[in-house]
Amino acid sequence: MPPILVSHPVFHTPRHTGRHPLAIRRVGALIDVLHALKWLAPDQYCEGEAASREMLLAFHDGAYLDALLQANDPDCDQTLLREKFKIGTLDNPIYPGLFERTSLLIGCATLAADLALQKRTVFFSAGGTHHGRPDRASGFCFTNDPVFAIKHWLGKGLERVAYIDFDAHHGDGVEDEFFDDPRVLTISIHEQKRWPNSGVASTESALNFPVQKGFDDQEFSLLLRKEIHPALNRFKPEAVLVMSGADALQDDPLCGLALSIPSLRNAILSILDHAPIRMIVGGGGYNPWNAVRLWASLWARLNAFPIPHPLPDEVRAILEGLEAPRIPKDRVRPEWLERLDG
Ligand SMILES: [Zn+2]
Repeated sequence: MPPILVSHPVFHTPRHTGRHPLAIRRVGALIDVLHALKWLAPDQYCEGEAASREMLLAFHDGAYLDALLQANDPDCDQTLLREKFKIGTLDNPIYPGLFERTSLLIGCATLAADLALQKRTVFFSAGGTHHGRPDRASGFCFTNDPVFAIKHWLGKGLERVAYIDFDAHHGDGVEDEFFDDPRVLTISIHEQKRWPNSGVASTESALNFPVQKGFDDQEFSLLLRKEIHPALNRFKPEAVLVMSGADALQDDPLCGLALSIPSLRNAILSILDHAPIRMIVGGGGYNPWNAVRLWASLWARLNAFPIPHPLPDEVRAILEGLEAPRIPKDRVRPEWLERLDG
C-alpha cells in the first residue's frame, strides 16, 4: 500500500500573524510542492473531521475545553484564560477558529493513527504538538496530537508503541502522559538548555538525549547507532510514531542544532524500519524553506520518487514565495530555493 498524507485545508494557511514564529506557510506550501511535482495521487491524500468533545476528553480536562471553546467570545474572562489555561499568551495567541482547528487536528491525528493500523505509512505534516497538556496550552500547542494517536493505538490493543522525537525541543507533553505506561517508550533528542528545559535524565520508559548547540550529522549518526536503534531493537515496537522536527535542522531561527536535510530525513526513514505500523508527524521548524524541503524530500523517499535537480520553475516559485518574520529575505540561501535535499 502506498504511503498516505493526512491533512485538512484548514492547516494549509497559517493562523498566527505578526512576528509569531508560526506565522509562516509550511503545510500548504508542502501540499503545493507535492502537487507541482505530481507526487500526490488522489488515493494518497485523506482529510480528517473534527474530533468530538468526547474524543477530546480522552486527554483534556473539560474546563480547558470550555476555555478553548470560549476563547473567541469577547465577553469571556481573558485574564482567566491567560493565567489558568495559558490561552492568549504571547506563545499561544488566540486566533479565529481556534477550537475548530484544535478539534480538526485531533480528528486528523486519530484518522492518521487508524490508517497506520492498515500497515500504510502515514504522514501527518500538520501534527506534532508535543508540548500540549491536559489542562493548558504550552509552547504553541493547544492540544497534543501525538498523545491522541498513541492513545488510539493503545485503545486498539497495541502493547508496544515507540515515540521518537527529533524536534529540537524536548517532547515533554508526550513523555509526561505516558511516563508510567510500560506499553509506551518515549525517546527525545533535543537541544539542551533550550525551553522547556526538561528531558535531562532518562528512565526505562523515557529516554532523553539532550545535545549541545551545533549538534551535527556525524554526532547524530553516532547517537542513532549507539543509543536509538539499540533501544528500539530491545523494545521491539509494534508501532512507531516519529516527530520529524524540522527545527533540528541548521539555520532554524529559534534553535541551534545543525543537522542537514538528508541526515534528518534518513534518520526518520530508519526509524520506520522498526515496526510495521508507522506514522510521522511534522512538528516544529520555523525556517519554512527547510521544513517544506525536509517534508517534500521525505515524501519523495517514502514513495521512491527521484528528486529533480534543478527543481521545476513551479516548485522554485513556491519556495521563492515563502516568507518568515524572523528570517530577512537577504538571509535566504540560494540552495533553499534550488534543492529539496540539501
Ligand atoms: Zn521544536
